[in-house]
Amino acid sequence: MKLEKKDVLFVIAVSAVYCSLAAGFSLVSTILPDKIILTNPIEHGGLNLKEITGHFAWGVVAAIVTLRVRYILLGGFLAVLIDSDHLIGLLHVDGIPRMGHSITFAIVAVIVLMILFHKNDYRLGAIVGTSILTHISYDIFSTEYGFPIFTPFVNKIIEFPREDWILFEIAAIAIIGIVSFLATKKESTQSRTFVR
Ligand SMILES: [Zn+2]
Repeated sequence: MKLEKKDVLFVIAVSAVYCSLAAGFSLVSTILPDKIILTNPIEHGGLNLKEITGHFAWGVVAAIVTLRVRYILLGGFLAVLIDSDHLIGLLHVDGIPRMGHSITFAIVAVIVLMILFHKNDYRLGAIVGTSILTHISYDIFSTEYGFPIFTPFVNKIIEFPREDWILFEIAAIAIIGIVSFLATKKESTQSRTFVR
């Protein structure tokens, strides 16, 4: 496993797009019916070092099964950057908190990033899609336990018991593992036909 310059650029570019997407997606909540007054993330304390490290570690652990440094790093970064959905709180508008912590955001992010970066990069798709799972896993493990999982269709905050953190992490590992396995298998058959 080694890290080349193109991996670093890839990780930075994907992270930047993902971060703006999470911040942008939360703007949708300003037109939803169940919006509330959002708290300012700076006055509220925002992300502290412990949370950043926790989210990063949870993301990295799930992505290790890819056995590729660029995806392992992305697993960590995306699990942290999803919290840019809190930035909307700086705008003094009404909305729904933590819009990025939802299935719709996971789907939108997978589609946008795969189109922008590489349509056949299934590992990237798996990392982006499961970043929501590893992120929520650490949130439940540490402090928060309620998320608008089904927004913008059902804007109810769904709560999870603390023990459920492990289910989210295992689900992420399973999805990334299966997708990586299939991608590796596909690549090896392709390279074999190429050699012939
Ligand atoms: Zn969070």
